[in-house]
Amino acid sequence: MSGEIMSKNDSSTYISTRGKSGYLRFRDAVMTGLAPDGGLLLPQSIPDVTAELNKWRKLTYPELALEVMRRYVGSDIPVTDLRKLLNRAYSRFTAAEIVPVVQVGDLHIAELFHGPTLAFKDLALQFLGELFEYILAEEDRCLNLVGATSGDTGSAAIYGVRGKQNIKIFIMYPDGRVSPVQERQMTSVLDENVHNLAINGNFDDTQRILKALFQDLDFKEQYALGAVNSVNWARILAQIVYYFYATFRVQADTGAEKVQVCVPTGNFGNIFAGYLARRMGAPIERLVLAANRNDILARFFRTGRYERQGVAPTYSPSMDIEVASNFERYLYYREGRDSAKVEALMAAFARTGSLDLPNAAEDEVIAAGSCDQDRTLQTIRRYFETYSYLPDPHTAVGLEVGERFALEDTPTLCMATAHPAKFSDAVGKALGPEHVPSHPQLKALEEMPTRREVLAAETEAVQDYIRRHALTRNSITHS
Ligand SMILES: *Cc1c(COP(=O)(O)O)cnc(C)c1O
Repeated sequence: MSGEIMSKNDSSTYISTRGKSGYLRFRDAVMTGLAPDGGLLLPQSIPDVTAELNKWRKLTYPELALEVMRRYVGSDIPVTDLRKLLNRAYSRFTAAEIVPVVQVGDLHIAELFHGPTLAFKDLALQFLGELFEYILAEEDRCLNLVGATSGDTGSAAIYGVRGKQNIKIFIMYPDGRVSPVQERQMTSVLDENVHNLAINGNFDDTQRILKALFQDLDFKEQYALGAVNSVNWARILAQIVYYFYATFRVQADTGAEKVQVCVPTGNFGNIFAGYLARRMGAPIERLVLAANRNDILARFFRTGRYERQGVAPTYSPSMDIEVASNFERYLYYREGRDSAKVEALMAAFARTGSLDLPNAAEDEVIAAGSCDQDRTLQTIRRYFETYSYLPDPHTAVGLEVGERFALEDTPTLCMATAHPAKFSDAVGKALGPEHVPSHPQLKALEEMPTRREVLAAETEAVQDYIRRHALTRNSITHS
């Protein structure tokens, strides 16, 4: 880890929610992912940008991203370099606005799915790939990213780092258990630094192997392993930007002072970025958390009890979670930044599978609701028939909950997290086979050659493969 830094209360110095990891610079926070004490990293302070809003609303997406991010990056990356990284990251989006905002019925919709893999994770992972490459080159290091996926994250991570210098990525997925579209989105990427590992087992097997790889500390060190996960601070940071961008658009269209924002939620990463945007001064009245039937978070905001209850598959698989990995960040603020308390609560939760926080239901910033399977399909159908607008199943959960939480004088903005063609099975089920959506980017994949490696569901098999293909210090490219 580079240079000790002193405690100073600023937004580019990072601390752990559990308070035992000292102070980290931005680039160390990005490269570390999870804090060494098991907590999650957060900036020491959140800048108040209220005075900037009138200037900011005139900016393009990459310009706005630069303004938001430089406050959290500090002197770690010169502004001119950061601007280049952002311009490159957002050059691969097919919509000129990057995040178009449209009005559909009474709701406003921010389309977060115009990136290379057609899901909102591109907004963060396209940037993270640029950031990794930049930091590795500066520090003469290499990185072997390893992840396990059941869907969206794998392809978005692969597209984030494909062709990048000094990075390799190894993505495991259960052979035959991800949708054909999602598999093709990964295996058609033929860049030399991308390795798709089809594991002969189920999703739990891939998770077990992943855990074992990171627990073997010698192996992890020797092969410079890094994780692709939803808790990396840079992912949250990149997501803050569109809360400003999209609420500015709704203000311009409606003249409203504040906007309510509804977010289809799984691991709490997306909505937590909205929570920070609001604390910075974005014109957000309230956030509405929308869950599918895996509703641990919605139950928490209704009852104050956060309780593990298993997970059931749904039409919106990227929201099928048992516990939400970014929840601890929210807990930290909710408990008045008392890291000893956060640590105790998380320890109790690990032991008993539940925790109780009185007054959670009175949270004025976050309201929550859930949408079951039938209503998800009904909502897809209703939006298509009434407004000729076709939402994907994740977005449909958000629209249904957003409608129910509508306010009298404040417009509601819903985050659309994936393109419907990515989940054409569920959409086809809602509308019938004659309306199955398609997208040229996905259509093109059908003709493309693919590459994958089939491996046994054993840690040794995966370790052996990584040993043979990982980058090591000797293979660092100097530019
Ligand atoms: C990841 C994902 C979500 C959930 O986002 P979180 O940040 O985990 O809450 C919702 N919809 C889609 C399409 C996703 O890929």
